[in-house]
Amino acid sequence: MSVITPPTDLLRQQDPKMADVLAGEAQRQAGSLQLIAAENFCSPAVLAALGSALANKYAEGYPGARHHGGCEYADLAERIAVERAMALFGAEHANVQPHSGSSAVLAAYAALLRPGDTVLAMGLPYGGHLTHGSPANFSGRWFSFVGYGVDAETGLIDYQQVQELARTHRPKAIVCGSICYPRHPEYSVFREIADEVGAYLIADAAHPIGLVAGGAAPSPVPYADVVCATTHKVLRGPRGGMVLCTADLAERVDRAVFPFTQGGAQMHTIAAKAVAFGEAAAPAFATYAHRVVANARTLAEALDAAGFAVTTGGTDTHLICADPAPLGIDGPTARGRLAAAGIVLDTCALPYGDQRGIRFGTAAVTTQGMGETEMVRIAALFAAALRGETAQTRTEVGELASGFPPYGA
Ligand SMILES: *Cc1c(COP(=O)(O)O)cnc(C)c1O
Repeated sequence: MSVITPPTDLLRQQDPKMADVLAGEAQRQAGSLQLIAAENFCSPAVLAALGSALANKYAEGYPGARHHGGCEYADLAERIAVERAMALFGAEHANVQPHSGSSAVLAAYAALLRPGDTVLAMGLPYGGHLTHGSPANFSGRWFSFVGYGVDAETGLIDYQQVQELARTHRPKAIVCGSICYPRHPEYSVFREIADEVGAYLIADAAHPIGLVAGGAAPSPVPYADVVCATTHKVLRGPRGGMVLCTADLAERVDRAVFPFTQGGAQMHTIAAKAVAFGEAAAPAFATYAHRVVANARTLAEALDAAGFAVTTGGTDTHLICADPAPLGIDGPTARGRLAAAGIVLDTCALPYGDQRGIRFGTAAVTTQGMGETEMVRIAALFAAALRGETAQTRTEVGELASGFPPYGA
């Protein structure tokens, strides 16, 4: 707590109203279970970089070629971030300026596509992201998206369908990546299909990139022309995005980020990304990433035993999707009951039908130090919350959480 609440109480003296809001959020995070698959607790060092003097700095452009003066430290910060990202992921080039995962995808499209081009991506009803062709998003407005799905029975990507759609529609780019796919995409198969039809392969690895960093998931870097990612999900850095690509696309990607889709980079966030990349390169992070997956597998098994229908029968990642229908409850109702009991997660698309399931992940609780014993306990808390035992479950959730304070006691 002490980390999130400014130690000097400066904020409290000047703006008690906002200090209360921030303290309330810190308490909410520490006192309930954060199972939103895209969330994590970044380290005190990352938070320190976010609250540093670089928050004041304008630095349009790239190291050594800025549109502003006084960029010597901004340049150092960005060079360190880029070098660490390249080393961590074995990439020929890294752009660490995207403000978010969506900005990274926008930049990838801007680098490789023209408005009106056809793009093949996972359909939104199956777990494609908004940036994969939603009509409410720039992607659906400016490009012609064709969606592939997953097998209704197994929940797995139907690669034969991907290949057939690619042959029929001859897309300029194929996107692999999802907001709720709990298994590893077969990057080599996507590469073969892309090569066959002369398409670029864009991997939107926003979710698994942290597992990739820790060696707990296969890397898309050797296969994709461009890899888009976030830095704040399993990777445990500040909120933000990045793009990894081959050397021959480096200039196009850089220009697509600035000046095409963004203005001045957020240098404090870039410094914080560098800190997170440094952490992710340490052996402790590999241990963490493997624990995240082991915890997710245990939680999925325990929920399966409790009667939930876990999509794809389990998980290879931090992410689990489950249908509570066998317990007589739909996804949105389940999310509401779980939230009331202090268990925070999302709803998600299911491989079959129009019903929604629940989606959750183990990145944050694993950062807190929870292990497989706690995962079994969490599964029991899920079941109790869905039975309507709200007050008792809320108390037990609070007790469990209090044993694993995210920023120490
Ligand atoms: C999270 C995510 C994004 C977007 O990241 P934001 O930082 O929220 O913009 C894009 N694609 C996929 C697959 C994601 O999971």
